[in-house]
Amino acid sequence: VQVTVAPLKPSGEDEGALLLAFEDITAVENAEAMRRDFVANVSHELRTPLTALMGFVETLRGAAKDDPVARDRFLAIMEREAGRMNRLVGDLLSLSRVESEERRRPTAQVDLGTVLRGAMQALAPVAEARQVALLREGLTADLKIPGDPDQLTQVFTNLIENAIKYGGAGGEVRLNVARLDYEPVLRGPALQVTVADKGEGIEAIHLPRLTERFYRIDTHRSREQGGTGLGLAIVKHIISRHRGRMRVESEKGQGSRFIVILPLE
Ligand code: ADP
Repeated sequence: VQVTVAPLKPSGEDEGALLLAFEDITAVENAEAMRRDFVANVSHELRTPLTALMGFVETLRGAAKDDPVARDRFLAIMEREAGRMNRLVGDLLSLSRVESEERRRPTAQVDLGTVLRGAMQALAPVAEARQVALLREGLTADLKIPGDPDQLTQVFTNLIENAIKYGGAGGEVRLNVARLDYEPVLRGPALQVTVADKGEGIEAIHLPRLTERFYRIDTHRSREQGGTGLGLAIVKHIISRHRGRMRVESEKGQGSRFIVILPLE
């Protein structure tokens, strides 16, 4: 609570008084704490690859200077670390762009079928490399919704990529499209896209936090997979810009289902 005290000048018979204002600033404080956390997280995430890069530059100048085998190995690691920084900066830019546009509702008509096909095609090599079958079922016609095609492609690319990366052990990732004649929260007709994997699933305690920036169940694993921890935060903001909803259903050992609901009107 923030307390503001202001003296009120005496007037006439009046002896003057003090004005006390009590203001609940919890929301402001929370927003400020989140901003501080975010900056601290970004700095840490950037510093880790940067420190590695600087270390290897040092090594290449010194010990590994005349050892071509070691040099190649170090250069490969440096390339990987630079790639990590590049992905992180790219995701930070996406996130800030999406956030700044969040109030402006997209107006173009997008064919969700084309969006899904594009995302699946882009990820086909990743799925194949891990021997994961990418399957699609459900509706294929009448999938036009108001939206931003690039952003919706990003949503489904992130969800399918996560399903392959974290749930791929189950051997298949299934996309299902269905029409909901009346979605009670959105109060109207909607399209529902489910991205389901048969992997190891997610424990219930993690579910409410998955879309927080930099929240990962296993940071080491996410890094190994090239993750930035921002994918689902970006997904959440894009869906919110489209006035849609996302729900995650999962149980440890049962695979996960990310269910996206987008209004048709
Ligand atoms: P990342 O860059 O780490 O993949 P995301 O925001 O996309 O970041 O996802 C956050 C975390 O959610 C991941 O690190 C992972 O732990 C968990 N996660 C996301 N999708 C799945 C999934 N299909 N199965 C299991 N865990 C998942």
